[in-house]
Amino acid sequence: MIDKILDKIYRGKELNKDEIIQLFEIRDEEEFKKLLNTASNIRNSISDDIKLTSTIHLTNVCKVTPKCKYCGFASNTSKEGYYNGFYKKNDEILKIAEFVDKTEIPRISCSGAHGYNGRQAIEAAKIVKCKTSLELLVNVGTDLTSSAIKELAKYNTDTICCNLETINEELFNKLKPGERLKDRIKVCEMVCEEGIELSSGLLIGIGESYEDRVDHLLFLKRFRTLGEIPIMGFNPYKGTPMENHPKCSIEEQMKTIAITRILYPTIRITVPTPTIGPKNVGYSLLAGANNLATVIPQNYPLDIKGVGNPSYGNLKDVLTVVADLGLRVGSKY
Ligand code: SF4
Repeated sequence: MIDKILDKIYRGKELNKDEIIQLFEIRDEEEFKKLLNTASNIRNSISDDIKLTSTIHLTNVCKVTPKCKYCGFASNTSKEGYYNGFYKKNDEILKIAEFVDKTEIPRISCSGAHGYNGRQAIEAAKIVKCKTSLELLVNVGTDLTSSAIKELAKYNTDTICCNLETINEELFNKLKPGERLKDRIKVCEMVCEEGIELSSGLLIGIGESYEDRVDHLLFLKRFRTLGEIPIMGFNPYKGTPMENHPKCSIEEQMKTIAITRILYPTIRITVPTPTIGPKNVGYSLLAGANNLATVIPQNYPLDIKGVGNPSYGNLKDVLTVVADLGLRVGSKY
């Protein structure tokens, strides 16, 4: 049934919205395999290099009120998360960045909670870009002003991430009552205006429809400097208002990754190891992803918990998975 659509993809033709929804509606196992093969062939036809991204959490003290209903990262949200508030000091940021810089990992994400107008991100960018050779992604959501983005550009920040999570506004308002979708879109626009690469992703399995996902993926096309799309499957954090909401299945995550790859052949598709689950990272690669995030080397100097799920991918295990699939970790130098 989907052969005609797949044929259209191989001929380089654009799919219409109904055809993309049909891909999301695949139930048959053979068709599912064909979808994944198509996506991973597209990725491999461009490059079989897989990027790895480690992480530094700058602070979990979040001034967004009320808190996002799924959040187990911010202080006092979930005992499974960090729970106690922290601010990383500059020497701690430097220690982690230098440690990661000595490993096979070429890139680091500096992320944190809201309420600082980007000052925490700028300090981190200064340290990472002046003292290490790491590529840098900054993710402090909407907590950025136009001048903060300019400062981040001054320190050669490679990528700024602002996830829209969902563009179904009713759902967004329900899950993120302390934030506004339009503010997230505005930050994405400001990043593009500054000419910095934008990363902006989808949180899936939160009650959105397939049509919402398709609309979201097509909506992202407006962002001129979009270079990365994270696909994050929902996991419930104990103690949060969504603790009883079912976790996103691995099949839904794979399908969404594959369809994103089909719609964006050359883009970096990021899968955080905490949200897919450290044991499942191989599935994301089979579906066409090419960046694994929150990859943590052995003996990481400070306490670390994943965002979206407290566990994370260990560097040694991740390297084994990538090699077993016949893929390569992109050269650092
Ligand atoms: S998800 Fe981010 S913005 Fe929302 S409460 Fe948690 S830390 Fe704050």
